Formats: sequence, structure tokens, C-alpha cells
Amino acid sequence: MKVSNHFSDWELFSPKLLEAIHDKDLPCEWFVQEDAIDFLEDLREFYGSPVSINQPTKELLHRGICTDSENLKQGRTLTSQHNFCAFDISLYDEDLTLVYQWIKKNAASYRIGGIGLYKTFIHVDWRNKSVPALWNGE
Ligand SMILES: [Zn+2]
Repeated sequence: MKVSNHFSDWELFSPKLLEAIHDKDLPCEWFVQEDAIDFLEDLREFYGSPVSINQPTKELLHRGICTDSENLKQGRTLTSQHNFCAFDISLYDEDLTLVYQWIKKNAASYRIGGIGLYKTFIHVDWRNKSVPALWNGE
């Protein structure tokens, strides 16, 4: 099911969370911040290339919004932002360092609370911080 112009629910939510949302027939919008959708759409628009989050063709990494148990399975802690609103994103053929700079520059307009640059993806979350937490990961 489409959540916005370019993104479907399976891209934003882990399989288990999506199943729970569908089971209870709840609106997807309850589980994702509007700022996050705006950010993803604008990022996609700006670079003109697909932003990948949970790709069904790849090994399931639960790179979007997850349940607690899925977070633990990923080696994350229970305080992980992925059970609130976080995405590990990558863009084809783009230098992630430059994408990271773009996100950092525009963080305030989307109320982004945390940005982590990793080798193959960028973590973006909506923790409650006016100045985003920044870090470099493995
Ligand atoms: Zn992450």
C-alpha cells in the first residue's frame, strides 16, 4: 500500500510490524512521522534516484521501523530509534558522504534528531532533539 508518492508501507516498516498494522487494520500514518515522509520524498526528488530502505529482494535487515524483538535480533538495544521512527537508507550511485552532508544541512526543516553515516547506509531518525545527534558508524 502506498504511503506517499514514491514509498510503500513495506519499504518503511519491517515485515512483522507491517503485519501487525494490517492485522489490526490501523492507518500506516499512525506509525510514521509526517516529517519523515516529507524528508524521504524530498531526498528522492533531489537526487532523482530510488532511496532504498527495506528491500524485499535483499536479505531482510529491518532497516525501517521495527518491533522490539526485531531490533534485538539486529543486535540493537531496546532504546533503538528503529522502534520509534528511523530509517537506514542508501541511494544507488550516490556518494553517501555527500548525501550525509545534504541531510545534515536540511535536518532542521524535517526535525531530524539523529544522523549516522555508515559505510553502506545512512541512519536517520526522529528522536526529540533540536540539534541532531551526528556520528560515524562502521
Ligand atoms: Zn539505523
